[in-house]
Amino acid sequence: MIALTIDVTLRQQSFELQVRDTSSVEVLGLFGPSGSGKTSLLEVMAGIRTPDAGEVVVDGRVLFSSSAGINLPARDRHIGYVPQDSLLFPHLDVSGNIDYGVRHGRAEGAHRSTLIDILDLPDLLKRRVQKLSGGERQRVAIARALMTQPAVLLLDEPLAGVDRARRDRIVPYLLRIRRELHVPLIYVTHDESELNAVADRVLQLETGRVVKAGPPER
Ligand code: ADP
Ligand code: MG
Repeated sequence: MIALTIDVTLRQQSFELQVRDTSSVEVLGLFGPSGSGKTSLLEVMAGIRTPDAGEVVVDGRVLFSSSAGINLPARDRHIGYVPQDSLLFPHLDVSGNIDYGVRHGRAEGAHRSTLIDILDLPDLLKRRVQKLSGGERQRVAIARALMTQPAVLLLDEPLAGVDRARRDRIVPYLLRIRRELHVPLIYVTHDESELNAVADRVLQLETGRVVKAGPPER
């Protein structure tokens, strides 16, 4: 469970994102057509984009507040972000990609083993990333993002580049992250059946505004 306050106004040329929502969630889904502002909202949360006004609070930590003059840099936000076109390092194998940017102690080693188990990566560790399927790549990108033990993980349409049959096989990994790791997710998707499977609250966006908010079945 994570307490989220999202109050964001972001203007970019003719587009204006204006999202206001407060919730306690395990998985918050963001749903809406292309260009509705889903990626922009994730980038605001991650600290890649600075809103014009508003507030972003995650479990009581103020990440951004225009009124208080707070804007934490991305590296201090404890947020994991897997962008839509998440790139793996081609010169490293799967194992090297998972470890990228993380210094190892004993605690990290145990956490790493758990992630490798949950995302079903044991047989892929020595594999070159060019030899991975789309779904395998996404699992590696997710493991890499989770290595830093983020307070929340942002996933931007992680299944968009994956065909239907494989997509049906990756949803269970997201459920395992939710159930076994207790890492809250903010999850962007076009697919209603995925939302029903993983989200406990959904914000439906259209042209930068929330047009519906609630549990996915509504
Ligand atoms: P979604 O992820 O829902 O497809 P985006 O957040 O990527 O939507 O885009 C929302 C709107 O913002 C679109 O109209 C897009 O063209 C515009 N946009 C995205 N990035 C930029 C940018 N860097 N500068 C100006 N406009 C942008
Ligand atoms: Mg997008």
